[in-house]
Amino acid sequence: MRHLAREAYESIIHLFYPSICFGCQNEIIEGDEMLCISCLQSLPYTSFETIENNPVSTLFWGRCKIINAFSTFYFIEQTPLQKIIHQIKYKNEENLGVYMGQLMGYKIEAIKRNIAVDLCIPMPLHPTKERERGYNQSALLTKGIEEATGIPTKLNTLTRKTHTSSQTKKTRIERWMNVENIFDINDPNEIKGKHVLLVDDVITTGASIEACINVLLANQAAGVSVASLAYTI
Ligand SMILES: [Zn+2]
Repeated sequence: MRHLAREAYESIIHLFYPSICFGCQNEIIEGDEMLCISCLQSLPYTSFETIENNPVSTLFWGRCKIINAFSTFYFIEQTPLQKIIHQIKYKNEENLGVYMGQLMGYKIEAIKRNIAVDLCIPMPLHPTKERERGYNQSALLTKGIEEATGIPTKLNTLTRKTHTSSQTKKTRIERWMNVENIFDINDPNEIKGKHVLLVDDVITTGASIEACINVLLANQAAGVSVASLAYTI
């Protein structure tokens, strides 16, 4: 009876405050609390997590040592996914970030036996940017991954230094050195001998990720894998 009363209550609430889909901004008739059924079905999954030599893992060939790398979705402009990412990054839709992390988590859960990750670490944002935004979108993703898989997140292990000078007037080598030295590990014991899953929102060139992988390995992580929400074609 209590259950029925709750359902009735929820449908009345829904009548006055219908859920709006984050992908297409239409009212959700069918689907879940975040996305309508049509947007859910149109999400461009890559299946990269099941392909060893996928475009994300080959991005790191000859650059640094990784165990696995994959993106859950293709980033394609003018699609519901682009709208979703925009709202996570710029519109304070933190719950949507956690939700997308859960979708990543279900894919990771399916291959968990093969990758045996010990912990997740989000790509750190520049501290000023994080203060302005109020959150790190990659940390929302790791929260969702943790909820879906039980893989714990370490939020403050990998940090980004505050003072990095502007990249624009530097030579290529200087630019590389600049990125190379901006990440740091707070407590190396937290990653020592562990397989770390480094999580980012969108992978493009992978330069910052490469610097993070190097600092994790230099601090005796057993190995690093990389997962991102989206991959830019
Ligand atoms: Zn929709």
